[in-house]
Formats: sequence, C-alpha cells, structure tokens
Amino acid sequence: MTTNDVRPVLVAGAINTDLVARVAKAPAAGETVTGSAFAIFGGGKGANQAIATARSGAPTAMLGALGDDDFGRARRADLDAEGIDTGSVARHETEPSGVALIVVEEGTGQNRISYVPGATLTIRPAQARHAVKRIQPAVVLTTLEPVPETIAALIESTHAIGGMVVLNASPEPHGARPFLPDLDILVVNETEAEELLGTEVTPENGREAALSLAKLGPRTVVVTLGPAGAVVAHEAETQSFPAPQVTAVDTTGAGDSFTGAFAAELARGGDPFSAARRGVVAGSLATTKSGAYPSIPHHADIEAMLASLSDEQA
Ligand code: ADP
Repeated sequence: MTTNDVRPVLVAGAINTDLVARVAKAPAAGETVTGSAFAIFGGGKGANQAIATARSGAPTAMLGALGDDDFGRARRADLDAEGIDTGSVARHETEPSGVALIVVEEGTGQNRISYVPGATLTIRPAQARHAVKRIQPAVVLTTLEPVPETIAALIESTHAIGGMVVLNASPEPHGARPFLPDLDILVVNETEAEELLGTEVTPENGREAALSLAKLGPRTVVVTLGPAGAVVAHEAETQSFPAPQVTAVDTTGAGDSFTGAFAAELARGGDPFSAARRGVVAGSLATTKSGAYPSIPHHADIEAMLASLSDEQA
C-alpha cells in the first residue's frame, strides 16, 4: 500500500528542543559544576508522535507553534525533512520555542529537567479549527501539551468532519478528565492510567484498568505496559499485545513511537487491535536505539518485524 491510500493524520502538541548536560554531580543552589558532555536533541511529545506517524507511512500534518528563534528554525527543518506538513505550525513573534534544560547526573543516572513550553501554549482554538478544515484529517492525534481550550476546539471540529480523535493523556493525565466522554480513543501508559484511576496498574491487571477507563467515556482505551506490551479495550472486547523481545538500550520515544504507528494504522483503515499490534512493535523497535527522533522506526521495519513474529508463531 502506498502513502496515497492512507488518509491524513493531524498531530497536535509540543515541538521542543532538549539541551542535555552530563555532570558528575548535579549542582546545588548557587553552585556551578563543570560537566563532561553536552548535546542538543529535537523533542516534544507532539513532534515525536508526528515523526512516528509520518515514518509509519501516513500523510502527516502538525499543529503546533515555535518561536522566531534558531531552535524554532531547526525543529521546523526536522519536521520538513520528514515530509510533515508544517503549514499549521505557527511562528510566534515574542514567545520562545519550547525548551527542556536537562541535567543528567552521571553518578546516579537521575535527570533534573526545567521545561519551558513557550510558544506551544499560544496555539489558539481558531488555529486548531483552521488546521482541521485545511487538512481534513481522518485521525487527529493530540497530547495534553496544548491548552485545554485548543484541545476542546480540536475535538469538536474533528468530529464535525467525521474524523476520529486519539488523545495521548501525557504529560499530565488529570488534564484529560474533561475530555474523556468525547474521545474516540484514549492512549495512556501505566503511570498515566494509575493517575486517572487512582489505583495501581500492572501488566497483570491491565485489561481491567483499560475497561475501567473505558467506563469513563472513551470508546476505545489503550494502556501501554512497557516491556509487557499493551492492552486494548474496544467496545467491551479486550485484547493483549505482548511486546516483541528486544535488547532495550534507551526507552526514550517508545511511547511516542507506539502512538504514531497506532494512528497511522487507523488512517490506513485498520481497527484499534491491528493498530496496537503495530504500536507494540514500533515501541519495542524504538528501545533498541538511543535518542528520540533517531530511534523512531519506519513502516517497512515495523512490517518486517511483524512478519517475522508471525513466522515464529506459525
Ligand atoms: P511510555 O514510553 O509512554 O512510558 P511504555 O513504556 O508503555 O510507554 O512503552 C510503549 C511501548 O514501547 C510498549 O507498549 C512496548 O511495545 C515498547 N517498550 C517499552 N519498553 C520496552 C522494553 N523494555 N522492551 C520492549 N519493548 C518496550
């Protein structure tokens, strides 16, 4: 199947730049420490998921905002290079592009992160409505990074054209509550599911957790369970999708790779079960490489791994 047979996906969320410094010991207040390494990475869950959707073969457009600065220009170039439509990524004149300052303490491996969303918080409801009208997406995938009014406008305008809304309730899942009754599909990881349900979620009780979340409104619920894969509750039916066994080196971007591959399969006309089957493969492949953007897998690699898994089962 070619990209032409797949309907468009609109992905909304943050496009950030991660500035990562490695230090032996994190500085205390007023202290300066000399670090051993520094690197700049593209990030933001919205951008990661847009790249994952595009690499999974769906025509992809991004709804977002960047500042009028060097980071903004670099991130827009990253998205353009993936063939993503950036016509609905605004350039804000005064707010900076989203940035995360990340200090990694080598001794303990702990991160300390200062995150400034900047321009992402300026995406207005009118921009969301305009993007939906322009792109006519079959699937809209959003995180909770945009402000609530914008998410509400996105859901309403998508439903008005008969599209499907997938909400990834991240980074702060409680923000999803007002939207739960209006969602076609909710995607959460174990921690996010726990925060929404107020009870512990494990691979053992994942199916019950997905059904409990479905009772809050979404027609379909996906709970990703790290190395244990994912469960899907769809119209009272549940199915588990074990993650393929891989040697995980870095789990950054695993959830975003899952979600992008999932959305692309829906745009291809697949049901949520077929979408989750591809999602777990994409998530697992993402853990085999370091970094977010570089580790996000392509459609051909996902399908090749799926085929080899079904050969093993045959
Ligand atoms: P998040 O990154 O949002 O916390 P998860 O940790 O649930 O999301 O991971 C998403 C998907 O990535 C899982 O469903 C699984 O397919 C894959 N995955 C994550 N961690 C591992 C791992 N250690 N080994 C194999 N697959 C993994």
